[in-house]
Amino acid sequence: MALEVAGDKKGGLTFAPEAGSQRLRDVINKNVTEDDLDRAALAAYLAGWNRMKLYFMMGLPSETDEDIVAIANLADHVLELGRSVVPRARRGSISVSVSVSVFIPKPHTPFQWCAQLDYDEVRRRQKLLVQSVRNRAVRVHYHDASTSLIEAVLSRMGRDAAPLIEGAWRRGQRFDAWSEQFSLERWEEAAAELGLDLVRIAHTPYDLDARLPWEHVSPGVAPGYLKREWRRALAGKTTEDCTMASCTGCGICPALNVENVLVGDRA
Ligand code: SF4
Repeated sequence: MALEVAGDKKGGLTFAPEAGSQRLRDVINKNVTEDDLDRAALAAYLAGWNRMKLYFMMGLPSETDEDIVAIANLADHVLELGRSVVPRARRGSISVSVSVSVFIPKPHTPFQWCAQLDYDEVRRRQKLLVQSVRNRAVRVHYHDASTSLIEAVLSRMGRDAAPLIEGAWRRGQRFDAWSEQFSLERWEEAAAELGLDLVRIAHTPYDLDARLPWEHVSPGVAPGYLKREWRRALAGKTTEDCTMASCTGCGICPALNVENVLVGDRA
């Protein structure tokens, strides 16, 4: 099932709709509908799960306040769905946890030109989300904004990230993914020594025709394909998964001299 990420009955079941509205899921080519989520959540409730975790990203390209409110509505909806199908004795233990991380634009994707959403706007949208949730059994959790800033910086830099990483390491930075180990100050000190502005790096978009810091590395995607996908994303047009249907012309197979194998053929 595309939506299911992981789960056990004690810890809850995690689904990743990633965006609250169908419009924005189409922009990111998620190829998942609210009906898919309903079916998966319903099956989970009926199989004995009480706790659902929903994972979303905030700051996706073209995101609006309506998309943020849609996250809250979807979470409320999943909660109500559970309460409507489980036996009365279980209803009090039904809960939905919403986990929201800040979108990190990644190289070699159609969103590689995008900036990360700036901190003040993240805070405003986080508040909007919390205010939009109607049910107290829905809890909202955020990924730390400072960690997201460093993730975006490392994602958007090229070779010049190497001395930055070394500088942070020399200052004692280790295991950044562990919140108790993470120190934004060490990164900021290392950046200042190199004359780098972390906020500007994370929050400034690249021009569509700019030479990107990672262009010397190629995963095999044809030039122009990512730009085409970027334009399709902005138009809300989805692209089919080529392992399920037919080739969409990204160019990887001819570049790497391999053949596509459809899921049906693998089964
Ligand atoms: S079949 Fe190969 S070339 Fe076609 S879209 Fe898929 S990975 Fe790209």
